[in-house]
Amino acid sequence: MLLTGYVKDISLPVCNSSFQSLHCIAHLNEDISEVLPYLNTELGGHQYTQEPPSVTFKIHGRLITIHPDKIAINALESAEQADKILEWLKKEINDIWERRNEIEPSYKRAATPALLDILKLLPRTNCKKCGQATCLVLATQIMEGGKGPDHCPPLNEAERLKLEGYLNQFSLAR
Ligand code: SF4
Repeated sequence: MLLTGYVKDISLPVCNSSFQSLHCIAHLNEDISEVLPYLNTELGGHQYTQEPPSVTFKIHGRLITIHPDKIAINALESAEQADKILEWLKKEINDIWERRNEIEPSYKRAATPALLDILKLLPRTNCKKCGQATCLVLATQIMEGGKGPDHCPPLNEAERLKLEGYLNQFSLAR
């Protein structure tokens, strides 16, 4: 077994006290740097960095970043949800480590959408209904995978589908 356990630390970001925005950092008992390229292959990493090593996944609208000594998860609804995700990740990390001889490690990051392409598909009225100061801010969050077309209320159905279609090329629609 590569990863035997972790110590969980849950926090509320100062900038957003919404209960849906808990952050979790799990401090790992072991250094898991060697498994990161195998996780990137098996779980479809959104972003892979070699130096310092880390791999980021986008799962159900939240970002999960795995470092050699810690796992960071954002946009959580509860501590119980953090426990479920961490236990799933621990199982995946150990399972993938056991099977590493059958897996081709990947050191590449997935292709990402272009910020200006996303911005062009938003209304660009800066109405702030998404809770952001400008459309550019939401476009950046969409590009990074933390938000999706549903976060822009003024988009009509056809516009939303168009943006989803664009993001689907990168598996980013939410
Ligand atoms: S809700 Fe949509 S149109 Fe309004 S500021 Fe946000 S992204 Fe722009």
